Amino acid sequence: MPQFFISIDKIRQTALEEIDKVEWLPHWGRNRIFGTVESRPDWCISRQRTWGVPLPVFYPAGNREKPIIDADLARKVADLTETGGTNLWFEKDDAWWAEQLNLPIGTTRCHDTLDVWIDSGSSHVAVMDRRPELHTPADLYLEATDQHRGWFQSSLMVSVAVRGHAPYKAVLTHGFVVDKDKKGKLSKSDAEASGKPIDAAHFYDKYGADIVRLWAASVDWQNEVPFGEELFKQTAEPYRRFRNVLRILLANLSDFDPAKDAVSDEQFTLIDRWILERLNKVVTECRAAYADYEFRKVFNTLNQFCAVDLSALYVDITKDRMYCDAVTSPRRRATQTAMHRVFESMTRLLAPILAYTADEAWEFAGHKESVHLETFPDADPAFAGETATQQVAQFERLRDTAQIAIDEAIKAGQFRKRERAALSITLPADDPATSLLGKQREDTLEFLMVSGFTLVEGDTTKITVAETIDPECPRCRRSLPLGGNPDHAELCQRCAEVVTALA
Ligand SMILES: [Zn+2]
Repeated sequence: MPQFFISIDKIRQTALEEIDKVEWLPHWGRNRIFGTVESRPDWCISRQRTWGVPLPVFYPAGNREKPIIDADLARKVADLTETGGTNLWFEKDDAWWAEQLNLPIGTTRCHDTLDVWIDSGSSHVAVMDRRPELHTPADLYLEATDQHRGWFQSSLMVSVAVRGHAPYKAVLTHGFVVDKDKKGKLSKSDAEASGKPIDAAHFYDKYGADIVRLWAASVDWQNEVPFGEELFKQTAEPYRRFRNVLRILLANLSDFDPAKDAVSDEQFTLIDRWILERLNKVVTECRAAYADYEFRKVFNTLNQFCAVDLSALYVDITKDRMYCDAVTSPRRRATQTAMHRVFESMTRLLAPILAYTADEAWEFAGHKESVHLETFPDADPAFAGETATQQVAQFERLRDTAQIAIDEAIKAGQFRKRERAALSITLPADDPATSLLGKQREDTLEFLMVSGFTLVEGDTTKITVAETIDPECPRCRRSLPLGGNPDHAELCQRCAEVVTALA
């Protein structure tokens, strides 16, 4: 029984060179496939099986020693199969085939089938070449870690043999999902037997498709992925956070038309410039992470941005201007301009890992087309610096120190809320915060969310707190001098102006 082979020696060198042109993720994949190709013997491609893709080889009448192997004949067999169906080879007899292919009467078919790795190894031809919207080589091949001897290699060898180059630009391998309580790959039957579902349908029925996708984005695919429903459920918290931040931004932008109301870069206040510097970093980091398929890094970067920068600081600090300034006040419009940029960028960055929620928010923001038709945002060179970031870092440092003093004062019953606090801040003359606080009083009050402060020079940083003597403005709830405006003696200066303008 003759067998058929691909002579690997003829293509080995090219295959090894091609391996080094491909990006292997994680990088150890390169050594794994290189080693197996280097030592691989010839590839036996004939199988004595009754099912599979037939080997399009013929024998002259009465002679099994000299097979007829001819590319044009193989092409014709393929064309006939294309129109006549995949069973044609088996349904028709030798005479029929000989006639179709203009072969002498008595010619017989080879009854072997092709090694199935030829099937999988030529998927790039079947898929990429036949669809005008696709291209070859493919951008990415993706499979679990056991395919360096399998599909990745069969594809490489077929492509190198036929075309002289690799069928892919990058190859990514991911670890298996494993039961968090025991070692080893989690098979579907084991999981069902132990009452721990692993079927994706169970999870999207119960939690929704966005949570499933967000979970997949949040795990470290380079290694084995421990899994259990409790672990999975932890994704719900960041999910709610993303959703909530998008909702807050949309609420704050409800009366903002970027075409009419956006301010120019010079009008941003410190806190706006800071969030835009942070955004710039987030965009840069997420784009780089997406390019490296580091979805977990995208997830962590955006989660951190939402939890710390936006929720805990920016949204909180700008609340006063958003709710109490005149609707068209320049600093309110400045914050809306910044929030609009944050929303537009963040939604597009979230779109691949939070498909439905991002699209829903995008539509709510008034866009006519889906967010999935957008490209990623570009980093803004105007905010590539760190000036505002460094200043805000000083404020954050003081805010943490002030927080301790304020908490103690509230606990001791001196006053009931932080807006009543007046700080005495002692700083060394050469402390970077000293000149900042001296020059930017409004920013400082806004950032520390206190009624007032005095700056004292001393050897070490110290903050003491007392209750302000200023009354509380009933409109904005800030404690500051009231009565500047005789028409609205009960209000602070800002609120009096806003109320007067509304009358
Ligand atoms: Zn007020």
